[in-house]
Amino acid sequence: MGLLLKNIKLERCYKEQNNGLVVTETETKDLLIKEGCFAEIADEIAENTPGVQKVIDGNGQLLVPSLRESHIHIDKTYFSGPWQAPTRPEDFSIYTRLNEEKELLPAQLDVAAERAHKVVQHYIQNGHTHIRTHCNIDPQIGLKHVELTLDVLKQYEDQITYEIVAFPQHGLLRNGEEFIQLFEQALSMGVTHIGGLDFATLERDVEASLQLLVKWAKQYDLGIDVHLHDRGALGVYEIERLLDMMAMYDYQGEVTLSHAFALAQVPAQKKETLFRRLAERNVDISTTVVISPGLTLPIFELDQYGVKVSVGHDSLTDHWSPFGTGDTIQKLNLLSEQFNLIDEKRLSYALKFGTGGVTPLDSAGRQVWPKVGMPANALLVDAVSSAHLIARRCPISTVISRGQVISEQSIQQKGAYRG
Ligand SMILES: [Zn+2]
Repeated sequence: MGLLLKNIKLERCYKEQNNGLVVTETETKDLLIKEGCFAEIADEIAENTPGVQKVIDGNGQLLVPSLRESHIHIDKTYFSGPWQAPTRPEDFSIYTRLNEEKELLPAQLDVAAERAHKVVQHYIQNGHTHIRTHCNIDPQIGLKHVELTLDVLKQYEDQITYEIVAFPQHGLLRNGEEFIQLFEQALSMGVTHIGGLDFATLERDVEASLQLLVKWAKQYDLGIDVHLHDRGALGVYEIERLLDMMAMYDYQGEVTLSHAFALAQVPAQKKETLFRRLAERNVDISTTVVISPGLTLPIFELDQYGVKVSVGHDSLTDHWSPFGTGDTIQKLNLLSEQFNLIDEKRLSYALKFGTGGVTPLDSAGRQVWPKVGMPANALLVDAVSSAHLIARRCPISTVISRGQVISEQSIQQKGAYRG
């Protein structure tokens, strides 16, 4: 299908003024999308161009890359159900949540699919064209959440791309041989990644857990995405051993460390070696941008070493946290405030953490997106620049995924005057 966007703004370059102020210069263009890719960008493209089936008048809205959710659990949410705050007992630990799940998840099974749909729809409306979800496989819920998650996401496969992580939330080795066999069944059901968590404190056997993880990832041709909450030297050791194990098994697949709080506290003398190893191995770090002393990852240091960092929400609202919004522009706004990104260039740069690295301008201010031939995953927003979009959390009117409009909302346009 041919989609023609008329009268849209594209970022062109930064313009620096003598007084130190920087503005993003934009240009007004028409853009033709064909077969899922940007096909032509010109000052004017006629509406009767052959193959055009839908025309959108952007009315001066800015085109930016679409968003990607790097870490969510669509299978165990309160979202769209009644409000319920999480518990916070005096003796709180991860076992508090695991014990809650033993009863909660079986009790939520009847509404789990309906809520998962609502979460996916919410992400689409909020500009996401890709979702990676973790999916519980535990002794209580067995493979039911895998079946449910596969079934729900399949219904959106003509709208978004997605990845599913087989996630042993309650541990793997610690649940015994029968459970390990059950978990292995999930790996050939259609998941894309194998998960894991806290190989030291939860599994209590770093070597055996990591060996099984990497061996299976290689055997079933899956990516790896592990939750790592272990901090300090212990967490660093787990990351180093994972890297060692990947080399030992000659595992070439994709690897993500979710949370990876240990990276917030790497001793100075170790930092360079570890961050370089992560970059060389293309390891992606997924963070919710936790704002807590000692837990906020050094996102820009990692980025400088070439380590890819992505933001995720982890939860919209569930028994773990009441705060997730599913609004990645809001998450990037939080990141920008946390790292004091107040200037035009650094605010714009932050967009990459929500788009899988894609920004309209590169760090030298050259236009690198959109280009003819690139996949047409884009948003129309009422903002005058990426910086404005993030700083003022400007609204999204149109979501385009592989050349198809998957969400349209009517918004009031205020342009530069949107406060
Ligand atoms: Zn998670």
